[in-house]
Amino acid sequence: MPELPEVEHLKRTLEPALVGARVERVHVYRTDVLRRAADGPGRSGLKRRPSGAALLQSSTIVDLKRHGKQLAIVSDSGAAVCVHLGMSGQLRYVPAGDVLTRTDHVHCQWSLKRSGAQGELLFRDPRRFGGVWMASSLAELEERCWSVMGPDALTISAAAMQAALKRTQRSVKAALLDQHVLAGVGNIYADESLFDARINPQVQASTLSAARVQRLHVALVSVLRSAVDSGGSTLRDYVDSTGAKGSFALKHNVYGRAGSECTRCGGKLVQIVVAQRTTVYCARCQKR
Ligand SMILES: [Zn+2]
Repeated sequence: MPELPEVEHLKRTLEPALVGARVERVHVYRTDVLRRAADGPGRSGLKRRPSGAALLQSSTIVDLKRHGKQLAIVSDSGAAVCVHLGMSGQLRYVPAGDVLTRTDHVHCQWSLKRSGAQGELLFRDPRRFGGVWMASSLAELEERCWSVMGPDALTISAAAMQAALKRTQRSVKAALLDQHVLAGVGNIYADESLFDARINPQVQASTLSAARVQRLHVALVSVLRSAVDSGGSTLRDYVDSTGAKGSFALKHNVYGRAGSECTRCGGKLVQIVVAQRTTVYCARCQKR
């Protein structure tokens, strides 16, 4: 499932093609992947086709914004669409003349024109846990959908993280995964940053000392930045806007490595379940 680094990398690969592009036409193949931001982050899709303008038709894309795992495309009309990739979603940009190898499960298509060059932006999602939220403005999107989430994991301060972890009775891993605490972290980057900070995933979040939260904050930001630079982690479906896979999975220290040697101490990595999620850690480096 794409997490913050995958979506941030996707944003960076889309920006050159999208910003400044005019949306000439929009095709919707499935209305049930569409939702209104005004209704909040709930999951029920539309039954009827919305107006083209709600999906940015006849406007020019001026900006891309990301919060956690969500990516918004903002137009000069003020309207914005926000894409959530869910489990298997992809946002692909295909320049005119190029052929997309997988055209199945394309639910939405934007035909773009930018300084004479044409291309198609496609939202593809085989498992349909993702979706496209339509907002009349970025402010509406932020207020109705993004404000119910915690701060973005790349920009949260150590002090805000400390305060958020103090408020919960759960394990530190469960807290990191909770999008209301901080937005963007999933199973991969929770395990990798806890390993980096030498913190046991089962420790109750509120009992961590300020020094340990500080260490976790540094580890989290460093792991996320490094993953963005590697194009994210491709486990199954994730590809960026050009169809390229991320290479950060090659740098995982713990995620997907249960039973292998710890890269730090050589001990055997163990797998347990924390917050209903498979969790891998080193019992020697990450003592309770
Ligand atoms: Zn170790």
